Amino acid sequence: MERLLAVPDSNQPHVLILGGTAEAATLARSLTDSYGDRLDVTTSLAGRTCAPFPLPGNVRSGGFGGAEAMAKYLKDRQVSAVIDATHPFAKQISANAANACAGANVPRLVLSRPTWSPEAGDNWIEFDTVEMAAADLPGFGGRVFLTIGMHELSVFATVADAWFLVRLIDTPTNPLPLANYQLITSRGPFSVAAEQALMEAHQIDVLVTKASGGDATVAKLAAARYLGLPVLMVRRPPAPDGPAVADVAAAVDWILGRLHP
Ligand code: NAP
Repeated sequence: MERLLAVPDSNQPHVLILGGTAEAATLARSLTDSYGDRLDVTTSLAGRTCAPFPLPGNVRSGGFGGAEAMAKYLKDRQVSAVIDATHPFAKQISANAANACAGANVPRLVLSRPTWSPEAGDNWIEFDTVEMAAADLPGFGGRVFLTIGMHELSVFATVADAWFLVRLIDTPTNPLPLANYQLITSRGPFSVAAEQALMEAHQIDVLVTKASGGDATVAKLAAARYLGLPVLMVRRPPAPDGPAVADVAAAVDWILGRLHP
């Protein structure tokens, strides 16, 4: 699906933002607000979320069909630069973007929000994978607040004697692959008070989450700290190679420096 709000002018530089994050949406807005008359901006979404952030500019949705197909898209659409603003755990699309940009000779910048770091009073146990966190989970109590997104929930299917409070953004179409769970759906930002009340109401013993970073979902970590709860934190995969910035303003500077719109 492609929604073209402006007729692309082939004389203008064309920025492709690989999105699905708040940062990608903020970048699209910043570029279209300030340079929309001189720059074509397209955001690409995987197309899995029912209610994505409202996005200005051009929007395409759905996979490209792998790195080679993305490289073809870059050439066909005369893309001048790619901003990989995908989620830090979205490994495949970032690897594809690196290969596609190299193949099509298109400059690429990674925009990745800073990760979270533990503070005094935190009790974090860090793991390289969700599987490793699931293997150690039984030692931390049976009532688990699970905020790892949808894809890897089945990893917890075999954890014995556990009850899960699962929070997702969208309502899934099928039952979750867990024996004992309660599902809540909501999108941040969450307040510390609300997160604390939620964990207390469900008598949570342990929080399992991924080091996504960002402000919208950080409150659960403060709530766990105040309640003295352990946090099983899945570390980020290695960052994609190449130039990277941590905020939208730096991404805009990089684009202006390269494309001079
Ligand atoms: P992934 O495993 O890295 O990507 C799987 C496939 O989905 C890619 O090979 C690509 O298909 C397609 N895809 C992913 N992002 C795309 C994009 N922005 N535009 C077009 N196609 C895309 O990705 P994921 O972890 O499933 O995440 C999917 C999307 O959700 C990403 O855009 C990401 O920013 C967002 N998101 C992910 C998480 C997370 O925890 N992983 C959290 C919040 C938001 P083709 O190979 O066919 O091109």
